[in-house]
Amino acid sequence: MSHHYYDIVIIGNSAAGLQAIRTIRRYSDRLTIGLIDREDYPAYSRVLTPYFIGGKTPKSNLHIVDHAFYTDGGVTPLFGRSAVRLDAVRHEVQLDDGMVVGYGKLLLALGSEARPFREGMAQVSTLRHMADAEKLALLLKHARSVAALGAGLVSVPVLSHLPRDVERHLIVGSDRIFSRLLDGESAALLEEHFISAGVFLHKRDDISDVTEGERLGLSLASGSCLTADALLVGKGVVPNTTLAREGGLAVRDGILIDDFCQTDHPDIFAAGDAAEGKDYVTGLKTVQGNWITAVEQGEHAALTMCGLRSAYEGSMKNNITEVFGLDVAVVGYCADDAPHTVTSGNRCGGRFRKLFLDIKQRVIGAVLIGETNDSGIYYRMVRGRTPFPGVKILQGENRYGAFMRQIA
Ligand SMILES: Cc1cc2nc3c(=O)[nH]c(=O)nc-3n(C[C@H](O)[C@H](O)[C@H](O)COP(=O)(O)OP(=O)(O)OC[C@H]3O[C@@H](n4cnc5c(N)ncnc54)[C@H](O)[C@@H]3O)c2cc1C
Repeated sequence: MSHHYYDIVIIGNSAAGLQAIRTIRRYSDRLTIGLIDREDYPAYSRVLTPYFIGGKTPKSNLHIVDHAFYTDGGVTPLFGRSAVRLDAVRHEVQLDDGMVVGYGKLLLALGSEARPFREGMAQVSTLRHMADAEKLALLLKHARSVAALGAGLVSVPVLSHLPRDVERHLIVGSDRIFSRLLDGESAALLEEHFISAGVFLHKRDDISDVTEGERLGLSLASGSCLTADALLVGKGVVPNTTLAREGGLAVRDGILIDDFCQTDHPDIFAAGDAAEGKDYVTGLKTVQGNWITAVEQGEHAALTMCGLRSAYEGSMKNNITEVFGLDVAVVGYCADDAPHTVTSGNRCGGRFRKLFLDIKQRVIGAVLIGETNDSGIYYRMVRGRTPFPGVKILQGENRYGAFMRQIA
């Protein structure tokens, strides 16, 4: 059994892990870093995989760093191997090939997994890893009809990058799309847009049976039957917590972390989709599940691991995406129970904006539909707990000059 030691070991070569490496190297050339990941390639963007599946970008464009990033950064990659056991007392991680890796500090940037669905069916796939994206790209290449289960950030972008002449079905358990992300009014507006883009929307429905053949037969709970060449399951992700739980760390939905991204063991940190930390707006612990949160938590974990204790203010929603040709941004808290809301624009004008305010009339969230290039301003408003600046702010960028001077 071979034994290796690094000052810092990171498990997870993605958003959180990469940002941790960049941050560590900003402050120290000396600390040794070992990076473990069961996937055996330079880090890539999961967010871009729907573009690759839809043929809009080649696979090579998905990578966000190349091999030189690791060699130049003095990082030892231990790729193609899974971490299978954590011994927090001995400060050791065991890999599936028997290698034991000792650490001074450990960052668990393990991400999450798609919940399995009818595993082993050739025309059914979830989407989380490169291998899933490759499978779906092949399946969808000549598909005439595609069904997707769950209306979130996995299925909707994939359907929206398919050619319009492909029959597209979206099956949603709840009474609306993006139910974890958006308020009812904004969701309804997007649903109208989906339908006008030719999508068949099956709300309050589920898949009760799948039969395989040349094409898939899908029986829906509502009684309808569909024929499809592929089924994408984008419903439910599960944070990777087994290693932490079996290693004795505190875990709820995700690995519990404090404001320093530290777990209940002082030398073990967690960040990104695997971690459950404070939400900036509500103050409650949550698994935020977006790229920017992984980056921010990775950065704060790294700072503290380097001895520069730095509290993270908390995560928030920050998603900017394109769905069926329409730009959408969701920032902060955008639920129906927000104390106050202010809207501007309408469904006919193709430009809709909605601000969410707390009881003190401070901005806690924003939905922008049709034009999102100024979403950073709304992010700053939420982070700054900015008092509602007046409805004019929602009307366009040329109003920002005076406002930015006011909040600067
Ligand atoms: C299709 C899709 C679209 C998305 N769209 C958006 C979007 O529009 N906007 C947005 O903000 N977010 C989006 N997300 C979410 C975003 O990709 C994640 O929030 C982000 O990738 C989280 O980064 P992470 O570093 O926490 O973990 P991950 O990116 O999940 O990476 C974790 C890594 O850890 C490795 N790993 C896990 N366990 C082990 C182990 N035991 N041993 C070794 N290695 C292990 C995995 O192989 C993986 O490489 C999307 C996700 C998907 C799948």
